Amino acid sequence: MAATNQVAKADGGLIVSFGEMLIDFVPTVSGVSLADAPGFLKAPGGAPANVAIAVSRLGGRSAFVGKLGDDEFGHMLAGILKENGVSGNGINFDKGARTALAFVTLKADGEREFMFYRNPSADMLLTPDELNLEIIRSAKVFHYGSISLIVEPCRSAHLKAMEVAKDAGALLSYDPNLRLPLWPSPEEAREQIMSIWEKAHVIKVSDNELEFLTGSDKIDDEAAMSLWHPNLKLLLVTLGDKGCNYYTKHFHGTIGAFPVKAVDTTGAGDSFVGALLTKIVDDQSVLEDEGKLKELLRYSCACGAITTTKKGAIPALPTVSEVEAFLHGNH
Ligand code: ADP
Repeated sequence: MAATNQVAKADGGLIVSFGEMLIDFVPTVSGVSLADAPGFLKAPGGAPANVAIAVSRLGGRSAFVGKLGDDEFGHMLAGILKENGVSGNGINFDKGARTALAFVTLKADGEREFMFYRNPSADMLLTPDELNLEIIRSAKVFHYGSISLIVEPCRSAHLKAMEVAKDAGALLSYDPNLRLPLWPSPEEAREQIMSIWEKAHVIKVSDNELEFLTGSDKIDDEAAMSLWHPNLKLLLVTLGDKGCNYYTKHFHGTIGAFPVKAVDTTGAGDSFVGALLTKIVDDQSVLEDEGKLKELLRYSCACGAITTTKKGAIPALPTVSEVEAFLHGNH
């Protein structure tokens, strides 16, 4: 069953984000283990869904393609997308499986503890036949991660959606968003993440992902360029409070981060990607012009920085006026 909400926004190109949307349950108090947490708060998330909302908040047109459980939480998440102006025409609801849940805590010793409810969850059960091909074909940018590659049938749905988008002329954008605990082994994660590497035109990795994928402990130009491939137009390595490095065929450089008082970095990368895609969807010439690209990445870093200043991912994703005010104050 597909949702029918329709979004009529400005006339910009459509950014379709494919993958998972789920609920993170985070303890009501900080620094405790999952077992010791006295209670949990719901925090909607899933990187591809965050990106779709980031785009919409920044004035772009976006759609989310994925599967949710036909349950209270699935319909709640679909409602959040709708409230945020994201088209839900590509959402399916599974009658048999639940919406994915993840219980997550940052313990006092700084270690993250995860517990996933994906046995299997609805997102993992999306089949190639269920894809709304019309919405995928109308994408100017098609964005995805790697969690949808972990198991079948979602993996085949992911591969088909990517091919359909590419054949229709979309720019393919990939943010692997490594979640090691979800993979059977690190080797499998690396192999599967790299299996679609050469399809993407834009790739964003974090510093940790660069280390993981290259197997080197160096986060430098040489390590980044070892991930370069001939179809790639832009490679980004985000560096948290150090900003990001960018690489194209013709130039590369660094954009510094904006100094902020970070309270929760969840969603910073998704905010960064959403901003980037919103800016390039209708003007890919920025990929050839270093001056314009640097300006765009400054904007993306501002979005990432703002997102760290509030708790949660979705509540912290900025609007255009918030970014403008922030940039004005940081002149
Ligand atoms: P991810 O969430 O994918 O790990 P990062 O944490 O590197 O990505 O964040 C993406 C971008 O957000 C960075 O390139 C940077 O511009 C901005 N950012 C992230 N953390 C901070 C921070 N603590 N202070 C300022 N900017 C930040």
